Amino acid sequence: MTTRAGRHFLQIPGPTNVPDRVLRAMDYPTIDHRGPDFARLTHEVLEGLRPVFQTRGSVVIYPSSGTGACEAALINTLSPGDRVLIMETGWFSHIAWRHPAEKLGLRVDYVPGTWRRGASPETVEERLTADRTHEIKAVVVVHNETSTGVTSRIADLRRAMDNARHPALLIVDTISSLASIDYRHDEWGVDVTAAGSQKGLMLPPGLGFNAVSDKALAAAKSSKMPKAYWDWEPMLKNMASGFFPYTPATNLLYAMREALAMLHEEGLTEVFARHQRHGDATRAAVRGWGLEVLCEDPREYSNSLTAILMPDGHDADRLRTLILEKFDMSLGTGLGKLAGRAFRIGHLGSFNDLMLAGTLCGVEMGLRLAGVPHTDGGVMAALDSLGVPVGKAEAVLS
Ligand code: PLP
Repeated sequence: MTTRAGRHFLQIPGPTNVPDRVLRAMDYPTIDHRGPDFARLTHEVLEGLRPVFQTRGSVVIYPSSGTGACEAALINTLSPGDRVLIMETGWFSHIAWRHPAEKLGLRVDYVPGTWRRGASPETVEERLTADRTHEIKAVVVVHNETSTGVTSRIADLRRAMDNARHPALLIVDTISSLASIDYRHDEWGVDVTAAGSQKGLMLPPGLGFNAVSDKALAAAKSSKMPKAYWDWEPMLKNMASGFFPYTPATNLLYAMREALAMLHEEGLTEVFARHQRHGDATRAAVRGWGLEVLCEDPREYSNSLTAILMPDGHDADRLRTLILEKFDMSLGTGLGKLAGRAFRIGHLGSFNDLMLAGTLCGVEMGLRLAGVPHTDGGVMAALDSLGVPVGKAEAVLS
């Protein structure tokens, strides 16, 4: 690894920048995971976590990546041969849901999408209404599609399911939205929410979560999918008394206690508003450069990341490589069919106005040096959007 002065700018859409306070909190000796101090830690973490999911129900914590939490959602609620409706939103609806679902022996109806719009409530309602015998056991939606920067409207999808009077479970992936974009597990009638530690929660990778409704717990009783490590039952039984059925990621739980304290000190409403400001400012920058935001519907703009289309004939990865080499900033690559055609700016987690200004300056400098056709003024437009209007100094002087 080469040594470079100053901080690296980690502006991929997760893993995100881990605050110093959280890093310090991890830096303690690992304790006995069957002792009383550990039980207190688990209880504190669960108490802080439930309001983040906006649930009063059960939350399971796995020592796993986000993909593990997705697999756990399927394994615990379904049986081999069950039909599931998975909404295509981008790379992650495929790699984290369709692919494992098929491997697990589920029959997947993969509802096509353009990667520029969120899951369509109208289509969900149509598909479920047509399923008169209730063969479809679950609808799976990625709340914030990390490959495209498009946020599906879960409340509207819930309404569509209710309109169809269909009993399917609603399973939602919040891996890049939890703790950055408003998300309401209970109010929106979500049955299983899958999440991970490394994005809005400001933690290193390594923890996966399932928030679970009573309806999902009831479905788990009749699920015939083979399960051991992911089984909710021993997890929930152990976690009720503050323990895990196997060795937990103790130091990541120290980190999570601290990160949750930070989120609650700032206030979740303020956290969501901060992400909204940064999302708005980033989109203003993109328009200022004369480039195109991938997301087509303003109701579905993501406040945790922005995917930007490159002008024809210009390679997004060449731009990203130049920005990394010159300015020590990592941006998100285009995934799947967007490889080379788009890059992504992550603006989630522990992030503030100056970090955003630095990030956008790095992109603008990169666009110039790479010879990508654009107009100047993206950074200025972003500052304007942040409430620092251009021309203000003259107004003060006069
Ligand atoms: N789902 C979404 C929306 C994601 O963004 C990611 C990872 O970025 C995943 C699933 C997979 O999570 P992990 O890479 O932690 O396994």
